[in-house]
Order: sequence, then C-alpha cells, then structure tokens
Amino acid sequence: MRLDPLQYLSAELQGLRDQGLYRRLRILDDEQKAATSVDHRAVVNLSSNNYLGLTTHPVLRERALDAIRRFGVGSGSVRTIAGTMALHMELESRLAAFKGTEAAVVFQSGFSANAGTVSSILGRDDVIVSDELNHASIIDGARLSRAAIKVFPHRDAGAARTIVAGLPAAQRKLIITDGVFSMDGDLGALPALCDVADEYGCIMMVDDAHASGVFGRNGRGTVDHFALHGRVDIQVGTLSKAMGVLGGYVAGARTLVEFLYHRARPFLFSTSHPPAVAAACIGAIDVLEGEPGLIDRLWDNTRFFKSGLAALGFDTGSSESPITPVIVGDATRAMALSDRLFEKGVFAQGIGFPTVPQGKARVRTIVTATHTRGELQFALDAFKSAGAELGVI
Ligand SMILES: *Cc1c(COP(=O)(O)O)cnc(C)c1O
Repeated sequence: MRLDPLQYLSAELQGLRDQGLYRRLRILDDEQKAATSVDHRAVVNLSSNNYLGLTTHPVLRERALDAIRRFGVGSGSVRTIAGTMALHMELESRLAAFKGTEAAVVFQSGFSANAGTVSSILGRDDVIVSDELNHASIIDGARLSRAAIKVFPHRDAGAARTIVAGLPAAQRKLIITDGVFSMDGDLGALPALCDVADEYGCIMMVDDAHASGVFGRNGRGTVDHFALHGRVDIQVGTLSKAMGVLGGYVAGARTLVEFLYHRARPFLFSTSHPPAVAAACIGAIDVLEGEPGLIDRLWDNTRFFKSGLAALGFDTGSSESPITPVIVGDATRAMALSDRLFEKGVFAQGIGFPTVPQGKARVRTIVTATHTRGELQFALDAFKSAGAELGVI
C-alpha cells in the first residue's frame, strides 16, 4: 500500500484547529449583494469588497450578456498570441483616459498585475523599498524579481527615506505602498513617499486595489485623492473590488505598458479575460463616470457605520476608508465574535494570523453604497449584543 506523502498536511490543519484558526468556507447561495443568503441563512453582508454594488448592477449585467452573445465565452489565447480582442483594447484605453495616464494594461487579476509588474521591471541588482503591511501579491512579485527587499515600518516615510538615503545613488530603487491597506483601512503614506522618490530618483508605485472606485474623483484612486498626478510612475488598480467584476490593471507611461506587454509573465503566459469580463469592466467605468452618487452613498454609509461602532465602544483602529476593523486581539475570540454575529444574521468574517499580525485578530467589516440604513442599524444592534455577550465591549 502506498503511504500518503501529503500526510504532513493533516498535522498542519490540526494545528490550525487547535488554535481556533481553521475556517470552513462560507458559501453564498444568492447573489453577491448587501443583503443575501450565506450557508442558507439570510444575512446583512459586511464581508465583500463590492463597495458600490456593481456585482449586480444592471448595466454591467447587460454588457456581459451582450458580449457573450456577440463574442462567445472565452478569449481562446493569451494576449500576445491570439487572445487580444477589441474589447480588451477598448478597456485599456478607457482605463488610461479614466486615470489620466498615457496608457494602461489589463491583467487577469490585481494579484497578477502586482506580481507580474514588480517581477518584470526589476532584477537582482535592484532594491524594493516596501511598507511592512503591503499586499501579498507585492511581496511575491518582489521575491520573483530577485531584487533586494527593504521593508519600512507601516506608513513610516521617514524610515523609507533613511533606507533610500543609505543605498548607492546609482542603484535602481522602487518605493511601493498600498493606497488603502486592506486589513486596517488606513491610507499609505503616499505624499511623503513621493517626496522621497522625487528626491532620490526612485520609481514610485502604488497598489490602489481598495482605492479604485472609492477614493479620488469618480473613484480614480489615491493619486487623484492626494493630487499627486505625474508623480507616481506605476498605478495598479483592481477591477475585482469596487468595479464589481474581475481583473487588475497598471496605468502609467506608454513605455511602461509596452514593456509589460513584452515581459510581464502573467500577460505572456496566462489566457486573457473572457469578453463578458472585459465588457462588464467597461460598463463599470461608465457607471463610475455617470453615477457619482453611488460613491457619495458609500461614504455616507461609512460614516454612519463607523461612528456607530465607535459609539458602542469597539476598537476600530485607524481606518480612513469603508474598511472598518473591529479589533479583538485574540484569534479565538475574534472567530467567536464572527460566529455569534452570523447566528444573529450578520456576515462579518473573522481574520487572524497570518493575514494580520499575532494578537491583532479582528472582525473586518466593509459597508457598501447599497446597504440601507435599516440593514446597517440591524448590524450595529447585532454587534452590540454579540460584543457584550463575549465581553469585547
Ligand atoms: C485584493 C487586493 C489585491 C488583489 O486584487 P485581485 O483583483 O483580487 O487579485 C491586490 N492588492 C491589494 C492591496 C488588495 O487588497
């Protein structure tokens, strides 16, 4: 009989169970929307990144259906061989116009946009100066590039400056930060990091996954929010969160985009988006440009919910965005709070190590433009009783 060479994985999983970190996947049995059904229970959904409710927006639905009827369901190839459809080019030019850059290139996901870009533009002689809480896709891209990685403490542009100042002037340097940090909801130190990049001639890159569709005019992102136009060489955004569909993009100079067309490995070696995805993403840009009231509603709901949680006595950290963490500390207790909320009809995921540091476990909430006040008040009432029952407040 063959011994199972994957036996050691059972021990790893048992370790997760022992620490209360084992999570069964929650299953959505309805659409991704503000009030939905998860594991056959009606819930107010505070766990998605569907900031503007675009996952079910009628314009995006129709565009996707129309694209399927006209162009089928698959692109049939990678972009560089036969998989570039007119819709892909239209999406890229719309994104460039939206972001106010010369050009843009679309990847299959935000993850592949980050990993593919960082790994292709840098090599083993270069240095990456990175915020300690940057997203995993940036870290993976940095490792694949073989460049040296220097990490600065969260949002500490002074520390980034000290690192950069200590490097040889001739060495190529990339400074990189998330625009909005996904687990804390705070903003990257973008203006101060741009000053460092300008002073020392570094490449400046921002990952605006959680800022796309949320910050800046019509959701143009943090570069627009901070009025840093022309000072950030590489803007990554995602089409998977507020844009409601799937994908990632890099907006910047024409030269950068042409280089990525030739060297970014996910672009070269992985099949492009189906036409329905590209068409729905174009629809999302139309909605951002045509319905700015959605973003206003998102921020109204954010203020209402954040102040409600704070008034109940929860520790909501230092968020400046619609992401509001409810910091509990102990992972087992955070998971218990999430489970108790679920029983009360509120879906808010518990998040522990390694996604957040040890001792910083939390329940993470994200409100959307499409939550009603009634739904948000229902969620606050559930937080109040569950928090009291578990001694969190
Ligand atoms: C979600 C996220 C990504 C990945 O985007 P996908 O489109 O989901 O692959 C990248 N960076 C950050 C900061 C994110 O939060």
